[in-house]
This record gives sequence, structure tokens and C-alpha cells, in this order.
Amino acid sequence: MIFNYSAASRGLRTRDGPPGCPGSAPPSAGALAARTGCAGRQVAPGCAGCLIFSAAWESPPTFGFLLDIDGVLVRGHRVIPAALEAFRRLLDSQGQLRVPVVFVTNAGNILQHGKAQELSALLGFKVEPDQVILSHSPMKLFSQYHRRRMLVSGQGPLVENARALGFENVVTVDELRAAFPVLDMVDLQRRPKTTPLPPSDFPAIEGVLLLGEPVRWETSLQLIMDVLLSNGNPGTGLATAPYPHLPVLASNMDLLWMAEAKMPRFGHGTFLLCLETIYQKVTGKELRYEGLMGKPSILTYQYAEDLIRQQTERRGWVAPIQNLYAVGDNPMSDVYGANLFHQYLQMVKHDGAQELGAGGLWKQRPSATQSCTSILVCTGVYSPKVPVSTEPAQGGEEPPFHGHRDFRFSQELMEASHIVHDVDEAVQLVFHKEGWAL
Ligand SMILES: [Mg+2]
Repeated sequence: MIFNYSAASRGLRTRDGPPGCPGSAPPSAGALAARTGCAGRQVAPGCAGCLIFSAAWESPPTFGFLLDIDGVLVRGHRVIPAALEAFRRLLDSQGQLRVPVVFVTNAGNILQHGKAQELSALLGFKVEPDQVILSHSPMKLFSQYHRRRMLVSGQGPLVENARALGFENVVTVDELRAAFPVLDMVDLQRRPKTTPLPPSDFPAIEGVLLLGEPVRWETSLQLIMDVLLSNGNPGTGLATAPYPHLPVLASNMDLLWMAEAKMPRFGHGTFLLCLETIYQKVTGKELRYEGLMGKPSILTYQYAEDLIRQQTERRGWVAPIQNLYAVGDNPMSDVYGANLFHQYLQMVKHDGAQELGAGGLWKQRPSATQSCTSILVCTGVYSPKVPVSTEPAQGGEEPPFHGHRDFRFSQELMEASHIVHDVDEAVQLVFHKEGWAL
């Protein structure tokens, strides 16, 4: 038996309950209130009766969360206390998520299952690897390059990450440097003492993967440039650099990110800025990306939407997900990305899928998603006490734009739909908007 709990239902409905449950017959609103002492509220926080009620009778969710990690759930290696509160609301009495949640981070120099384990330990519930979207995760979609010989830049478990994304034939910058030691000349201590012959059997490189910020930037910048200028044969010298150059796939364009330090740190976006500037200066042409992913790229949100859909299907929730809520601390990546995706959803609804902005698009299956709402928190990069770059600076100076070259400055896109203190307030806000019990 299923019936609407009330005309102004918060999305709760009742059906035959489990044995022993006080609600095995559908209760009236008044009876429920009397039973739980909720005094007119449908479900009271912390009330055991209400928890049983909400777990047993909650309607399938029609909304889901895209949660940023750094600055929203954690700062460095410390969990933000509000994140624990938020998950108390998001989990049911069985420790299961009440709504679909994916974690969307621009981090990249880590394995997906490693990040899931780290989050599980910090948040106190089991996070599955396929709930975690790293900045390079959408590279799985670029299967046309998976069999090509790709130079991979970054740090950490680089080769493992590239393989997990589907790339079968990768060469690291360190391996390239070992094969051609005369290429890396900035550090006097690392210059070769002799002049070895270049290998004659080194297969040509056919593309470049930029997974995250490397260490020894001068080495990576030099060798990536060598590969692009030589069409993948850095042992040879070409009179004219080929253009278009070899395909470049890049992820994580964050200029800065927030760790334990009081001031933001360099992100991979700073490395990309260096590479783009050097390429432009040397060749007079623009470095082009075959794919640019991580927030705020639409590609990342399409990928996240697909994982939300898969999670919903696995849980047996029959209602399609209509509203996505993206919670983040960075106006340029989290807010801009969510708003750009929302614009994209509106455009698709009216005109069908077309190219919009940079970063490429993935032809995905038709979706029921109607909206993507941006929610900015104040526990990370953004602080309400510091003027944000979207606001005109005093004295008429242009505010700095920290976004990537391929994403135009847009004050509208950098303005969050909601600004709240922390992720717990964000969850409360969304539950209220969706008519769900806290
Ligand atoms: Mg963040």
C-alpha cells in the first residue's frame, strides 16, 4: 500500500512497513506526530521512530549531490567537522546513502581507489571507488588514444593511473629523460657528464597526457615541448614544428588550491599556464587541447551525471534524477562549472547538444536532469571576508581572472546560486528545497 503522507509532502510516502515497525499500517499525519512527538514535523532529527520511518518510506530521490573534497570535506588531511554532520543527514539508519552522491575533485596524482579509501576513513562510511571522480577520470572516454604511445606527465602512481584510464602504452617524462639525457639541461647537477648517443630504436610518441602537476617543472616543460616540437621524436631536430601538434589531453586546470597553508598553493593550472605560454612564445601559435577536463569542464559534469545515474540504478531507485546540487569552495572551478553545466542542460533541452565553451563534450545517453545548482561554502578557497575576483576592485582596477585561458571570464557563471557556511548547511538547504526531512 502506498499513499501520499500529506498534500504538502516533503517527498515522504508510506507503504507496508517491516515487521514490528509501528507504521506497518499507513499512519495519519497526526498519528505519526503523536507517536514521534514531532509536533507537526514529519521527521525529527535524532528521533529513532523517525529514522525508522524515513528509512522505510522515503520516496526514491530525484536529486543528487556532486561534492567537492578539498575545502569542503577536508583541509589537507583533516576532516572538516561539518562534513561529519552532513553525512549524518545523508546516511540512513543502515548506513546507506539516502540520495546519490559523487565526490568530484580536481586532484589527480592519486589512484581512484586510494582516494575512496582515504574518504572512507575520514567520513566513517564506505565510499566506493566509482563514487570518486578525479580530474582525469573522463579520459576513459577518449578511447581513440588508448592504444597510442602517450607521454604522461604528473607524479605519484602515474603509469597505474594511465592504465586504469585505458591507456595501454605510456612513457613517463622520467623514462624519456633517461632515454635522451641531453634534453634536460637546466639543473647543472643533473646534466650528463658525457654525451651519450640517442637511442635509435625509441618508438615515436603519439600524444601527451597531462594528469597533474609534476615535480621538477623545468624538466617536464622542456621534454613536453621537445615532444610537441619534434612530432614525437625528441632525438631528432625538425626545421619546422608541426601544427596542429600532437594531441594533448589535460586535466585539472585549477590555478590555485587550498591546503593547510594560509595562502593558496600552485595547482596544475599554473603548470599548464607555463606550458601554454612557452609554446606560444616559441612557436607563435596556441597550444590546443584535444580534451581539457576536471572542473569546470562540462565533460566532467557529464561524467558525474552518468555516475549518479548508474548509482541510482544500482540502488533500485526508480525515479529519474532531475536536480543536481554541486557543492564546492572554489568560485572558478566549482561554481563556474556547475553553472556552465546548468546552461548546457538548458541549451540541450531547447536546441539539442551543441558545442558550448571549451573542454569538449561527450555524446551521452539522453538524461532527465533538469538543473545543476551551484552552492558555495566558506570552508576553503572562498572567504566572504576577502573580496572575490568576480567583484569590481576598488579604484576601477580589473579583478584578476584565475580561470583557464579556454574558459571565458563570466561574472554570471562565477556567482553561486547559494552561499552557505559549510557543507552541512548546504545539505540542509537542499533537503529543505527538495522537501526532505533533515
Ligand atoms: Mg575545493
